[in-house]
Amino acid sequence: MKLVLLGPPGAGKGTQAQLLKKDLKLIHISTGDILREEMKKESPVGKEIKKLVESGKLVPDEIVTQIVAERLKALDSKTGCLLDGFPRTVKQAQDLDRILKAIQQPLDYAIYMAASLPVILKRLTGRRVCKKCGTPYHVKNRPPKKEGVCDLCGGALYQRADDNEGTIKTRMQEYTANTAPIIQYYEKQGKLLKVDSDRESEDVQVDLLKKFKADGKFDHHQNTTRA
Ligand code: ADP
Ligand code: ZN
Repeated sequence: MKLVLLGPPGAGKGTQAQLLKKDLKLIHISTGDILREEMKKESPVGKEIKKLVESGKLVPDEIVTQIVAERLKALDSKTGCLLDGFPRTVKQAQDLDRILKAIQQPLDYAIYMAASLPVILKRLTGRRVCKKCGTPYHVKNRPPKKEGVCDLCGGALYQRADDNEGTIKTRMQEYTANTAPIIQYYEKQGKLLKVDSDRESEDVQVDLLKKFKADGKFDHHQNTTRA
C-alpha cells in the first residue's frame, strides 16, 4: 500500500504515521525528519535549507523530491510506504505521480487530515519530539511515560526550533498558499480520503483501518505475515 498523509502542521500526521506503520507494516518516509537529520549532520543540503526550515518556509521542490525519489526507488515492490509531509506543493504531487508510475506502484490514498486552528496551535506549542527516532509527544495530550524521555528508544525529547508562535504562522501561510491546493489535486484523482483530525489519533486510526478493510486494501493476513 502506498499512502500520502496530507494536512496542516499539527494535524497529527507524524502521530498517525507511527500508528499506521505498525498495523500496515509500512515504511515511514517523513521529509521533515529527513531534512532535520540533514541539518543535524550539517551536510551541504542541511546547511542550505536550515534558514528556510527554521523560519517555517518550504524547501525548494527539487531538493525534497530528489530525496523522496531515492527512497522510493530503493523500496522493493512488496513494501508499502507512508509519505508524511510530502508532497507539499502541486509540483511535488505531479512529480510523485511520475516517480510512482516509473516504479509501477500507484498511490492508494491521499489521507487528508483536517484540523481546526485552535487544535493545531495547542498541538504545536505543546509538541516534543524524540531526538533519536523522531516520535512525536505532547506535554499534555500524549506525554511520555518518563518526562523528557522517548518511550520507544530512550532518546531525549526536545522542542523543535520551528514550533513557536511566529514560525507557526509562517508555516500556516505556506500551507494555505502551496499545500492546500493538493487536496483538489487528489480529489480529482478519486484518491482523497478526508478525516476529522481534531479527534484523538487512535479514533482517526480506527476509521482509516475500517476504510482500508472495506476497500479490500488491508486484510488480516497482511497484519500477521512477517516479512
Ligand atoms: P509540520 O508538518 O509539523 O509542519 P514537518 O516536519 O513535516 O512539519 O516539516 C518541517 C519543515 O520542513 C517544513 O516547515 C519545511 O520547511 C520543510 N519541509 C518538509 N517537507 C517538505 C516538503 N515536502 N517540501 C518543502 N519543504 C518541506
Ligand atoms: Zn525515540
